[in-house]
Amino acid sequence: IAVQANFCQVQIDPETEAVGGKLILCTRRARLQKIGVSAIVGDRVTIDEVDWQSAKGVVTDVFPRHSLLDRPPVANADRILLVFALAEPALDSFLLSKFLVKAESTGLQVSLCLNKSDLVTDMQRQEWCDRLSNWGYQPIVISVETGVGVKELQIELDRQITVFAGHSGVGKSSLTNALIPDSNIRVARVSGKLSRGRHTTRHVQLFTMPTGGLIADTPGFNQPDIACTPTELPRYFPEIRQRLAIAHCQFSDCTHRDEPNCVVRGDWERYAHYLDFLADSIAWEQQLQSQP
Ligand code: GDP
Ligand code: ZN
Repeated sequence: IAVQANFCQVQIDPETEAVGGKLILCTRRARLQKIGVSAIVGDRVTIDEVDWQSAKGVVTDVFPRHSLLDRPPVANADRILLVFALAEPALDSFLLSKFLVKAESTGLQVSLCLNKSDLVTDMQRQEWCDRLSNWGYQPIVISVETGVGVKELQIELDRQITVFAGHSGVGKSSLTNALIPDSNIRVARVSGKLSRGRHTTRHVQLFTMPTGGLIADTPGFNQPDIACTPTELPRYFPEIRQRLAIAHCQFSDCTHRDEPNCVVRGDWERYAHYLDFLADSIAWEQQLQSQP
């Protein structure tokens, strides 16, 4: 659940009898270091030589990962939870769209959480939900302030590793605090070698919620930049995925811009966003190709 220098803080599988949930400070066995196997946050590992008195042990193996995030470095994450606010700051559909595309590009399940529901009317909230449903998303509406929806969200994140994303001011820290009781943070924020340098190095740590889900304490990304190719971009729009699941464009490499017999081009709301991001992705690809 945390890694720093040569130490890993390992949490024993909560399902394990008697010792489930215990934290063991581990080094890596020399053999692993020799073959260049590193453990990062989120990895599932086996440990050995555990001294239960001092809660120390050795990581002997790292299991294959089912996913790998770059920034922050997290293995086996299941989901990106994109947090936006319904107000303060006002919900900007273009920015939201950009964040959604960025989140989709990780290949993980994308969930959208709309916070600060206490600041808008039921009608305003419903309008956004209807609109986002047309985009292909079912937002989870919450208010950290009043607690509305927070329990439901917690249940939704059960048994998974979730990485939060979203720009500042939407309430990510408030939500993290609501989901993780203080005691848990105190236990997990290990003393000594592990915690030193926390603010000087890029640091990620996982926290266990009372319901068993794990969340990364560092927001995944707060600057959404389109960093994908024009070929990849359409995959990151549920609206396009849906259209291409039932019909085909005439050209298999259709960019859905001005080709004849395109089944994607149309008067759906985010088509304008798609064209905008397409220009970005073309620029991104050209930049990539021009690099030596
Ligand atoms: P972060 O930058 O995304 O981590 O956002 P913060 O958690 O720091 O929250 C930004 C501001 O929004 C703070 O002043 C919070 O008190 C406030 N805030 C967070 N959640 C809510 C909410 O549900 N309703 C209202 N009205 N304010 C909230
Ligand atoms: Zn097309």
